[in-house]
Amino acid sequence: MSDFNWCHGPQCHEKHTVDRVRGVKGSKVLRTRKVKTYPGNRGWYSYFCSQNCYDNFANKYIQQVIAIAPRTECLETPILNPEKDTQSYWNNWIITVDETRQS
Ligand SMILES: [Zn+2]
Repeated sequence: MSDFNWCHGPQCHEKHTVDRVRGVKGSKVLRTRKVKTYPGNRGWYSYFCSQNCYDNFANKYIQQVIAIAPRTECLETPILNPEKDTQSYWNNWIITVDETRQS
């Protein structure tokens, strides 16, 4: 098994950085970066060389990505009545999850 993935960023190979330059003189190319893989699930870090490449992929394929797990209803987290934090200099509120109403 390979210890790297090619970056999935759709424009990765178009970025003008020296580390992407490959090939012999007179036949140079900008090549997609390799992304080193590690054991375990590292999420998108295993498939993208940068946040920018991840964003480009997500923006290009957002409809397919959302189709994997569409959100058709809102989600809610039960909380206790928020209380003003009188110990804080800032206008903070204390919001506590109501564990007794967790589904
Ligand atoms: Zn990339």
